Amino acid sequence: MMTKDVAELLKAEILLQEVHLQGWVRTFRSNRFIALNDGSTIKNIQCVIDFENTSEETLKRITTGAAVSVKGTLVESQGRGQSVEIQVKEIEILGDSNPDEYPIQPKKHSFEFLRENAHLRVRTNTFSAVMRLRSKLSFAVHKYFQENGFYYMNAPIITGSDAEGAGEMFRVSTFEPNKAPKTEEGEVDFSKDFFGKETNLTVSGQLEAETYAMGLSKVYTFGPTFRAENSNTTRHLAEFWMIEPEVAFIDLDGNMDLAEDFIKSVLSYVLENCQDDLEFLDQRFAQEEKSKPQQQRSELGLIEKLRFVADNNFKRVSYTEAIEILRNSKPNKKKKFQFPINEWGADLQSEHERYLVEKHFKCPVILFDYPANIKAFYMRLNEDGKTVRAMDVLFPGIGEIVGGSQREERYEVLVEKMKALGIEEEELWWYLDLRKFGTAVHSGFGLGFERLVQFVTGMGNIRDVIPYPRTPQNAEF
Ligand code: ATP
Ligand code: MN
Repeated sequence: MMTKDVAELLKAEILLQEVHLQGWVRTFRSNRFIALNDGSTIKNIQCVIDFENTSEETLKRITTGAAVSVKGTLVESQGRGQSVEIQVKEIEILGDSNPDEYPIQPKKHSFEFLRENAHLRVRTNTFSAVMRLRSKLSFAVHKYFQENGFYYMNAPIITGSDAEGAGEMFRVSTFEPNKAPKTEEGEVDFSKDFFGKETNLTVSGQLEAETYAMGLSKVYTFGPTFRAENSNTTRHLAEFWMIEPEVAFIDLDGNMDLAEDFIKSVLSYVLENCQDDLEFLDQRFAQEEKSKPQQQRSELGLIEKLRFVADNNFKRVSYTEAIEILRNSKPNKKKKFQFPINEWGADLQSEHERYLVEKHFKCPVILFDYPANIKAFYMRLNEDGKTVRAMDVLFPGIGEIVGGSQREERYEVLVEKMKALGIEEEELWWYLDLRKFGTAVHSGFGLGFERLVQFVTGMGNIRDVIPYPRTPQNAEF
């Protein structure tokens, strides 16, 4: 007898085979029909119990959430809604689930409730679909880069430089909070700490990835990053996964081409390989949209939206053009923006990004050449002396999904910039070395993996696309 998972059984072409399967009961009705799910697919398989030959005690123990082992015959289904079912010959209860206590009932639960039960929520249709997609998407990310000549590089998670994330980093220390050794001046003496200096969790692997790009030419990181920013939004986590390709010898145009090609490729991959889960989420998305006021509804369904992005060119617009569009836009003139756009130089807020993507261009937008003073120190200065070769990819419903740039490869220009911003040269001596020894044009970007998963699954809150979200005041599980 073959032990098979539900996904395999539902595809099986040979009927009347004796099979063994295991899973969790989703529902049990009429003392006969078990909808069994093992997580291998969104679909349940129906197991039909011969209740006359099953003990009263066993029947009682077949409850929602119970783990069971089933042996029986795979037959064509008598009922509607499924092609095959299992005629059960033998059922064993592996693990009971008390129906009065089990939180996940066969009804609609709110996402808030399920976040409080994050250890059980993967047993629902929505979360199992989201998490299977998350897994497939990670594979698609590696597949894209591996097939295009990139090497996977693991940037350190504990970092000794805080150049990038000043003020929003999590400290790493083995000191007891109240017993940290002090210097003569009364400051905490980090020279006595584990690493002999102040260390933090990384906010980005970029600077280290750059060092590897300058030897391997094409690299990417895909790892956890941490930001102690107190932003309680539906798009920010304190711990999230970031994909950061870094490439030698490409400029900003090449970087934009890479970002666009990469995103389209992973979307095409899931459209081709995750149909069942996407169809389920597409329906969920459509239902949720119905409950929104007309003007806020998405014009496209979830799958349509993914196809649209995979098949159409992103619109490339300079920051300067974007400011003109925003300045003359209806919401700006009618004072509908919380942050009005009055002049060149303003930092774009998410309301502006969403206006450009959702109302004006109605497609993904890549904004480039931002004012130098609202972007990071390492971005390459343009000839105009006031803009840098930065680019952000903006997505409908999400806002910024990618932030990247061509890096400043000129030693003097970089040092000058660091001086102006008060970044110590000693702190980044190794980063500056890249500009001393064989410097070259190079570029890269960071894509927040959870924002990509949000886009693909249509989930409104980033807390619902990572198994255990870390946000301010929340690190349960
Ligand atoms: P935002 O303006 O949305 O906070 P950012 O400018 O801080 O983004 P970058 O530093 O450019 O973002 O990081 C690169 C990418 O990482 C972003 O485009 C986004 O997809 C993702 N990202 C940034 N911060 C977070 C976060 N707190 N949680 C999840 N993803 C994030
Ligand atoms: Mn941010």
